[in-house]
Amino acid sequence: TSFGFKEVSEDEKGKLVGNVFSSVASSYDLMNDLMSVGLHRLWKDRLVNQLHPFPGMKHLDVAGGTGDVAFRILENINNISRRALQEGFEDDLKAETQVYVCDINPKMLNVGKKRAAERATFDVGLGESRSLIWVEGDAEALSFEDGSMDGYTIAFGIRNVTHIEKALAEAYRVLKRGGRFLCLELSHVEIPIFKELYDYYSFSVIPAVGQLVANDRESYQYLVESIRRFPPQEKFASMIKDAGFKNVEYENLVGGVVAIHSGLKL
Ligand code: SAM
Repeated sequence: TSFGFKEVSEDEKGKLVGNVFSSVASSYDLMNDLMSVGLHRLWKDRLVNQLHPFPGMKHLDVAGGTGDVAFRILENINNISRRALQEGFEDDLKAETQVYVCDINPKMLNVGKKRAAERATFDVGLGESRSLIWVEGDAEALSFEDGSMDGYTIAFGIRNVTHIEKALAEAYRVLKRGGRFLCLELSHVEIPIFKELYDYYSFSVIPAVGQLVANDRESYQYLVESIRRFPPQEKFASMIKDAGFKNVEYENLVGGVVAIHSGLKL
């Protein structure tokens, strides 16, 4: 393969992903900030804006890890609820909001649970409330009912899944008609010069920072290699269509460093 990283078989992939995230769980948030120079926060904001969350929604965030996306969704819904209360629309708030965070790695979920407990600023969904639900599970075999979710998000997760098609089929299955699929993922840069700079950054800088901060060069080398193996924007969009989604679109952010793909179950 390019850049001398070894190719991984599908069987190995699952195991390797498990090891990578167990190894990086504790330094995960710091590394995210360092590697994306804080940009992952804006990208996640963008993802949640595209979702248009609403009070009473049933949402599933897959590969939700430390809860970053789920926290944003609940924050967003809390703001809407607060406004609805101020304006006297209490009736709109009767249905219970449920945001499920599903991740295959219990260590990542534990970091997320701890963060949820620390974030006392939330008045809904954290602590004693039931709005935020942590579920250990595999994107390829979800434990949720058919047609049970209004929304499905997966941020920086689908790249690590062994069979992307299975994960997409499961996303389609658990969504209600009218439900929205959104995927935020590191993608492909095709802009000349920027592409070369980005390659240098990912293959030289990221593993070095991984070594320095997390004392773990290999895991970060694997992450970089997995970005290169992930299907380009158009190809991934066609896979989403093949899973049955309609109105499939994508938006490149920072020239394709990241892309948000979306689709509707109609
Ligand atoms: N969504 C979070 C974020 O954006 O900060 C976490 C992203 S992290 C890079 C990838 C996550 O995917 C890890 O928490 C990992 O445990 C999880 N993961 C990997 N394979 C998975 C699978 N098959 N099913 C569910 N989660 C998976």
